[in-house]
Amino acid sequence: MSWITVCGGGNGAHALIGTLLVRDKRIQIRLYLPIEEERSRFAEVISCQSSFELRVTGKVYSVASKRIHVTADPKEAARSSVIIMVVPAFAHEPILSQLAPYLTKENTIAALPARSGLEYQAWDILGGADREECTVVGFQTLPWACRVEHFGHSAAILGIKKKVGAACLPSKETAEIAKIFSTLLGIDMIPYQSMLELSLANVGQLIHPGIMYGAFGDRHAKVFPSEDEVPLFYASVDDEAAEFLSGMSDEVLTIKDTVEQKQPGFKMPSVIHLSQWLKEAYGEEIGDNSSLARKFQTNPGYQTLKVPVRKVDSGYQVDVKARYLTEDVPFGLLVTKGIALILNVDTPTIDKVITKISGWIGKEYLVGGRMIGCDVTATRVPQKYGINSLKGLLQQEI
Ligand code: NAD
Repeated sequence: MSWITVCGGGNGAHALIGTLLVRDKRIQIRLYLPIEEERSRFAEVISCQSSFELRVTGKVYSVASKRIHVTADPKEAARSSVIIMVVPAFAHEPILSQLAPYLTKENTIAALPARSGLEYQAWDILGGADREECTVVGFQTLPWACRVEHFGHSAAILGIKKKVGAACLPSKETAEIAKIFSTLLGIDMIPYQSMLELSLANVGQLIHPGIMYGAFGDRHAKVFPSEDEVPLFYASVDDEAAEFLSGMSDEVLTIKDTVEQKQPGFKMPSVIHLSQWLKEAYGEEIGDNSSLARKFQTNPGYQTLKVPVRKVDSGYQVDVKARYLTEDVPFGLLVTKGIALILNVDTPTIDKVITKISGWIGKEYLVGGRMIGCDVTATRVPQKYGINSLKGLLQQEI
């Protein structure tokens, strides 16, 4: 019998719990929920319901809920050799800090997904070079589009990605860990060479803030009278927005090239242009590959997802507090900007997005082109951790 700790009680955590329990009958879950209200609600549901259900594209799987043990004790959570955080990136810091005193070299702690800059945060919280080496794993994305159906009792997986990138600290562990997680989750995990590669290959940092700015920048305050009139998100990318996204992607490639030139032998092959990424991720499914805009407009997977909105008196307004901005900027695009500043790479397109979106979400990050705004402390930019050189950026990797 093997225990796995899952940290988180949201959509992704429900899907992960179901997937682990359905795939391997020997697994038991320690579910670490430090937020008291969530912990007691979950514990109450599993004490009343004998089963936990997972619906995967229509088919329902049922497992015994007694295989889930809920805890708020970080020491107990750290007893499992594999610990998986399935939470938004802003929750990595409290969870890592709570578990840090109990982690040893026997533990592997994963962030599913990692977003960007996990390496600096984990290095900082887990004690840098002096830490007793637990392995830290970051995954490029959550493998599923998923939703809680009944809290504590059932989840639905609506879509499954074919492959997901993975990187470890220390990097020598990546191939082995990717294999273990491929088996646990039934997803092809692709080993990346470094956490920096994972951070820069985070396409959500481009697509989400880039589309919010490029396709909705001039109508973010507009009121859509009914839900039906709320526009599609990805399919709203026109030629102008696509050019903008392409410019952001080019700037990330310049950062990648600069690192590879300055650090001979260090390669980041998974950092590719957005247009190529769409082709590789969706391939034949895309109806028209003739331009970046057409790739967005004719990808069947993008035909139902609408721009995030919030209800206002007279209808619906673009929700500027949505994770597309509040997660993908401080734990994505801003990390990339921080890396660019260290390498002296100009990023005029990315700067425009950060400046505009900082205003929308009421945060101060860049001041006079420097990473010194008062809200930098709530991000994962390298500067927050005192990292100001390429050597510092790569200290954990080499
Ligand atoms: P969610 O909002 O459903 O879950 C949030 C959970 O995080 C909470 O229930 C809580 O358990 C935990 N949490 C929040 N703050 C915490 C804190 N301070 N301390 C401890 N725990 C805390 O989110 P989700 O849908 O499960 O998404 C998880 C991650 O996966 C996010 O990064 C999201 O962007 C990404 N993602 C989700 C989907 C999806 O389909 N749900 C798809 C792609 C990517």
